[in-house]
This record gives sequence, structure tokens and C-alpha cells, in this order.
Amino acid sequence: MDIILLGPPGAGKGTQAQRLVDEHAMRQLSTGDMLRGAVAAGTPIGREAKAVMDRGELVSDEIVSALIDAELFAMGTGTGAIFDGYPRTEAQAQALDAILAKHGRSLDHVIELEVDEEALVERITGRFTCAECGTGYHDRFNRPAVTDTCDVCGAHSFKRRPDDNAETVRTRMALYRSETAPILPHYEGRGIVARVDGMAPIAEVTRAIDAILGR
Ligand code: ADP
Ligand code: ADP
Ligand code: ZN
Repeated sequence: MDIILLGPPGAGKGTQAQRLVDEHAMRQLSTGDMLRGAVAAGTPIGREAKAVMDRGELVSDEIVSALIDAELFAMGTGTGAIFDGYPRTEAQAQALDAILAKHGRSLDHVIELEVDEEALVERITGRFTCAECGTGYHDRFNRPAVTDTCDVCGAHSFKRRPDDNAETVRTRMALYRSETAPILPHYEGRGIVARVDGMAPIAEVTRAIDAILGR
């Protein structure tokens, strides 16, 4: 089963993808995580992407589609893919169709997380992750059970993204509206789009997604 999680920055895509990975035999394919990995490793792609990401703009379609293609190649066919933060443009949606066909895969669901834009700034500015295992948290909505200790791996160091500030959020939300939301009709025609209330508590959103996946 291959699915896309679609929604503006801070909608909860990464949070839900992590939960699906834990509960089902699925793999999260986050172009944001892949790009941050390239930035940290100082690869040519990372060097090119860093400034674009810091401004909250979009990295080129060719780069992100090549990253996805390579991950699917490495993954093999037995595992379902959760596309998180990809595709983000019409060109990427078309590239994904071609990439999936090449790998003998197809999309089962496109799940749109619907959220109030006003909530997103608080979601994004309060977001942090475990520096060791990458588990996501939030200052108000999703704190570790024990202060300063990761629930999953017990680590005590956390990090915040340089692009998670109120200024870039506005740019990223505007790009979601102008570039990403318009790809929904691409999938509506195939009858595979489902909508979930992304303003509900995290566990409730997971239950709604599980129901769509038929579990
Ligand atoms: P995205 O991957 O869509 O950008 P995240 O999954 O990183 O979003 O979520 C953004 C922030 O909001 C994180 O700090 C996360 O813990 C928190 N969050 C995610 N889902 C919810 C929810 N349903 N209610 C409250 N906070 C949430
Ligand atoms: P969020 O879900 O919070 O918007 P991501 O982690 O998905 O953030 O992406 C962080 C940044 O990486 C984006 O603002 C953009 O610069 C870049 N990026 C990630 N995925 C893509 C993509 N599919 N196309 C273009 N740029 C991307
Ligand atoms: Zn951890």
C-alpha cells in the first residue's frame, strides 16, 4: 500500500507518518528529511538546497524527484510507502506517477490533513525533535512524558529546525496554497482522495487515517 500525506507545513504529516511506520509495515519517505540529511552531510545537493530551505522556498522538482526515485529503488516492493511532503507541485505529481509505474507500484490513498492556518504558526514555532532518533514533539501539544527525555530512545538532546520561524511559515503556507493544493484534482479524478480533520488530537487523527487504510 502506497499513500500520500498532504497538508500545509505543520499539519501533522510527519507525526502521523511516524505513527503509521510504528504500527504497520510501512516506510516514511520525507523529502524534507532527505534534504536535511543532505545539508548535514554537506553533499552538493545539500549545499544547493540549504539557502532555499532557509527561505522557506521550494527545492527544484528534479532534485526531490531523484531523491524519491533512489529511495524507492533501495526499498524494494514488499514495504508500503508513505510520501510525506512530496509531491508538492504539479510537476512532482507527474514525476511520481512515472516513478511509481517504473517501480511497479501505484497509489492507494491521498490523505489530506485539513487544518486552520492560524494554528500552524504555533505548531511550527513549538516543534522540536529528538536529536538521536528524530521522534517529533511539541512544546505544548506533544511533550515527552519525562521532561527533556525522549519517549522512544531516552536521549536528552533535542533540536529545532532553522526554518521553523514565523517568517518562513508565511512563505511556506503561501507556497502550499499556490503550488501544492492545486495538485489535489490530479488525484480526485481517480477517486483516491480522503480528508481528515487535522485539528483533532494526534491519536484521533491516527484513528481516522487507520479507518481510511482499512485497519
Ligand atoms: P508536518 O510534518 O506536516 O510539517 P509535524 O508532524 O511536524 O507537521 O507537526 C508539527 C508540530 O505540531 C509538531 O510539533 C507536532 O508535535 C505537532 N502536532 C502534530 N499533529 C498535531 C495535532 N493533531 N494536534 C496538536 N499538535 C500536533
Ligand atoms: P514542512 O512539512 O514543515 O513544510 P518539510 O520538512 O517537508 O517541511 O520541508 C522542509 C523544506 O524542504 C521545505 O520548505 C522546502 O524548502 C524543502 N522541501 C521538502 N520537500 C520538498 C519538495 N517535495 N519539493 C520542494 N522542496 C521541498
Ligand atoms: Zn529519541
